[in-house]
Amino acid sequence: MRIDVLTLFPEMFEGVFGASILGKAREKGLVQVNTVNFRRYSTNKHNTVDDYPFGGGGGMVLKPEPIFAAVEDLLAQNADDREGEKPPRIILMCPQGEPYTQSKAEEFAAEDHLIFICGHYEGYDERIREHLVTDELSIGDYVLTGGELPAMVVIDSVVRLQPGALGNETSAVTDSFSTGLLEYPHYTRPASYREWNVPEVLISGHHRNIDAWRREQSLRRTWERRPDLLPSAGLTAKEQQLVRKWEQERKLTSTPVDTSDTDREHV
Ligand code: SAM
Repeated sequence: MRIDVLTLFPEMFEGVFGASILGKAREKGLVQVNTVNFRRYSTNKHNTVDDYPFGGGGGMVLKPEPIFAAVEDLLAQNADDREGEKPPRIILMCPQGEPYTQSKAEEFAAEDHLIFICGHYEGYDERIREHLVTDELSIGDYVLTGGELPAMVVIDSVVRLQPGALGNETSAVTDSFSTGLLEYPHYTRPASYREWNVPEVLISGHHRNIDAWRREQSLRRTWERRPDLLPSAGLTAKEQQLVRKWEQERKLTSTPVDTSDTDREHV
């Protein structure tokens, strides 16, 4: 996989791209990551990449020419070697984009080439959205100064899904969201710490019981913390019944005036 990042601050990526899983994946040749300072593609004598918004108002807007030119240059490089590969996904980081999720990470992980565009200032000239990018992505409903941190978040989550990137392949499989549910609780040695004991089942050595316990814990944790995930989590009839049982138990223990749980009733 190849990842290119268009940014005005390439130095922000140095530590992140060199460390941990991402650094190792690069060393192993699983992913090639490259930053491009699109200021290099500015054609005016002051090397500016932004300008005042038409119509007035505060803030500066990123101009289309340097960003189009940088992407087109990337597409032209090694075009022959890349024959037969899927066309790249050109991803604009922006708070108005599609909310980023694990299923999007899995979709991107199957691509050959990703190009990220990191904005700054007030935003982008709208023609970049309309005529250049294939995806617009937001990492959450809040506004950051630039697209660099959001791009790092997305790249990290995509690279760790590359086969061979994680030491233990199964750890990504059971991760929160990959199964549709939040992950079950973990414990490690010592089995008893300050008289807080690890659940018996985990030290029983009975793998079928351990799997069943973990699945139920995942379900319970998701029901408690992220009930919005349950309708699309592919629950079995037995699991749906279990959730209904928990709902009823909760109703019995809550006071009549408490209506805070009503949004969970659709499960
Ligand atoms: N004026 C823009 C708006 O209200 O939508 C916000 C611009 S923000 C200050 C500058 C840049 O940071 C954006 O162009 C984008 O690249 C990046 N950014 C900020 N928040 C983001 C988020 N939640 N997700 C993805 N990118 C974000």
